[in-house]
Amino acid sequence: MSTPTEKSARPARSGTPEIRVSGLHKSFGDNEVLRGIDLEIGAGEVVCVIGPSGSGKSTLLRCVNLLEEPTRGQVFVGGTELTDPDVDIDAVRRRIGMVFQQFNLFPHLSVTENLTLPQRRVLGRGKAEAAKVAAENLRRVGLAEKADAFPASLSGGQQQRVAIARALAMGPEVMLFDEPTSALDPELVGDVLAVMRRLAHEGMTMMVVTHEMTFAREVADRVVFMDGGVIVEDGTPEQVIGNPSHERTRHFLSRLL
Ligand code: ADP
Ligand code: MG
Repeated sequence: MSTPTEKSARPARSGTPEIRVSGLHKSFGDNEVLRGIDLEIGAGEVVCVIGPSGSGKSTLLRCVNLLEEPTRGQVFVGGTELTDPDVDIDAVRRRIGMVFQQFNLFPHLSVTENLTLPQRRVLGRGKAEAAKVAAENLRRVGLAEKADAFPASLSGGQQQRVAIARALAMGPEVMLFDEPTSALDPELVGDVLAVMRRLAHEGMTMMVVTHEMTFAREVADRVVFMDGGVIVEDGTPEQVIGNPSHERTRHFLSRLL
């Protein structure tokens, strides 16, 4: 299953980092949750972020699209500094897709309408174009036949794939995933991971918080282990998961088995 060839099938990456986080600190009151994060993710690179609950993984992801405002430090996406007070944050956010553990679909809208509404509201696309892009992206996640269904009639895995399609329909440069399979029944996890794996192979830049170690080993270019608001290890999956150099990483991994 594990396959170097899979990774080499992916498009070559350019030299400029697509995501750059520099000296990032985030506190909630006097709880310092991120304590100086430095991280670069190249275009087309897939980075999995692992670590214990409460280590700051979600906060880091949320700082990368400014859902949380950093206390200190800089975040760049595609060369634009998000932490620059003069930046048009709505414009930058359009370039960043985010998928959460909870799918957050609109229950009263059909699958197609869930995909067309943000395109029309945020990007100002016309009805026909939005519908065309919705159909393309539903095909991409293998759910073309559910275009007219309502979220409640879908399995959790299908709903999450709709949420991924909704993010993709906005044409993002990077995709952030925060434990996208953690809310799913085990038998539904595989289909969601398969969609993410395909996206990785298409060359999407991805930052994925996950506990799915098989996915991280097979799909990630790099794995970042966080603990206590710092990056403890950052390396290839073989290094970080296969042969961790820190006791904290070993302890975390041993508890997953
Ligand atoms: P992880 O995703 O690794 O489980 P989080 O980033 O969600 O960790 O949380 C890290 C810490 O930050 C936790 O102690 C959490 O309680 C705290 N935290 C996260 N979001 C907020 C918030 N909006 N307000 C106050 N504390 C928060
Ligand atoms: Mg989290």
